[in-house]
Amino acid sequence: MGLKFQKVVDTAQLSKKVFCNRCGTGTIHNALTAVRKEYVPDEEYGGPDFWTSYQIIQCNGCLDISFMEDRANSEHTEGFGDDERLVHEFSFYPEHLSMNRKIQEAKTIPSIIFELYRETIILVSKRMFRFAALGLRLLIEELAKDQGASRYHLDSKLKELLAASIISSDEKEVLEILKVYGDDAAHKDEIQPEKILKLGVDIMESIIIRIYVFKEQHAELLDAKSPICDAP
Ligand SMILES: [Zn+2]
Repeated sequence: MGLKFQKVVDTAQLSKKVFCNRCGTGTIHNALTAVRKEYVPDEEYGGPDFWTSYQIIQCNGCLDISFMEDRANSEHTEGFGDDERLVHEFSFYPEHLSMNRKIQEAKTIPSIIFELYRETIILVSKRMFRFAALGLRLLIEELAKDQGASRYHLDSKLKELLAASIISSDEKEVLEILKVYGDDAAHKDEIQPEKILKLGVDIMESIIIRIYVFKEQHAELLDAKSPICDAP
């Protein structure tokens, strides 16, 4: 029983595809060095095995270097029979966040909306699904307020946005669904799965880009328009 530390000599097997902040997409990262920590259970009484791999990793695309912690234990598995496998949980420093590049580079997105978007992605990546659902709800609330909605309840704010043609009826429908997921997390402890929350983030990205980034692109196009275009 106890802790064992072992430096991994052959790191060739540790390459893994993860999101790269600089490349803006998922790329293969190679481990430059790795140390494996293992908790070995008592031989007589048994118990779960815990493993943590600490790795300095490098992106194959831009060669950027970061740190990855990969945790697993013998009690945390998914799938059944031959498909049963360990569930790994990953942490990165700096964070590897699959943020939309257009949103990251935009200058017109209010800071509160950008921060809530970023924090919600962090919560999903850390599998904090209750708070991620609340994050999405907060994001909708702040977006509605920023776009001029002033009613008290979020449902009413969304109606205001629809009436002002800021969102479509389809967008209103999906925002209402995401709002309910936040309410359920807060009041009923009902947790949405990762897939749904990631889809919620994708939907918010589409709406943020359409509302804020498009406005920026529109202004940029008008600024860059050749004088020849104005000729009769
Ligand atoms: Zn990269």
